[in-house]
Amino acid sequence: MNELKLSKRLEAVAEAVPKGYTLADIGSDHAYLPIYCYLKEIVPSAIAGEVVEGPFQTAKNQVERLDLHKAIDVRKGDGLEVISKGEVDAITICGMGGALIATILDHGKDKLEGVKRLILQPNISAVSVRKWLLENNWELIQEMILEEDDKIYEILIAERGEPSKPYQLAELNKELLLGPFLLKEHSAVFKKKWTLEKKNWDRILLQLDSASPSQEVEDKKRELEQYIQYVQKELDLYE
Ligand code: SAM
Repeated sequence: MNELKLSKRLEAVAEAVPKGYTLADIGSDHAYLPIYCYLKEIVPSAIAGEVVEGPFQTAKNQVERLDLHKAIDVRKGDGLEVISKGEVDAITICGMGGALIATILDHGKDKLEGVKRLILQPNISAVSVRKWLLENNWELIQEMILEEDDKIYEILIAERGEPSKPYQLAELNKELLLGPFLLKEHSAVFKKKWTLEKKNWDRILLQLDSASPSQEVEDKKRELEQYIQYVQKELDLYE
């Protein structure tokens, strides 16, 4: 992978950036995504944000090597603190856990004024991202699921709008877990992901059965049993 040949995962994210939008890529690491979006003339300019010194220097070096410092501003800082209110049209946050993505968005809420689109790619716990979007008036407008190098990735795209629109509220918890669009699409990758997750939960449930009893263990078991039920119901539809 490099700035001209992205991974399938980051290419799908880049395709979700509307042409002409300014972009902030938070947790940019090597800055491949903002550089690619600029070189492909998707964005007129971009900010690459990084909190860790090593990746921040890598991003800076990449931008300097390509002489792109006028178009791509590499900034060091935690989450959305690297941007000002109204500075960008779209934000990408990719390759982190869903809980961390939700925390970054939550801590930077005031910076989201003027942002029109969020493109979020949680490696795990997409449910945390969906919940944050729903609770903070962002409407999920599209979801993607894809497999690359034996890993399965979900990409969530949101815009300001009617946050409950994609959900059938009677089944909200199931939809938050599995994704309202992905549930409808019912792809082979979706089936594979949830078959593997269910196997993992079955194993954890067995371990919890032999753990010393506590309220915490009981709550975890109830949660997993509920999740397994949601997933099994969906997997049965493939039979
Ligand atoms: N976004 C790239 C991708 O998807 O290929 C890099 C993903 S890398 C696994 C996650 C990056 O996020 C790391 O470089 C890490 O330093 C950065 N990161 C983690 N927490 C962050 C935060 N709060 N603010 C900015 N960057 C963060």
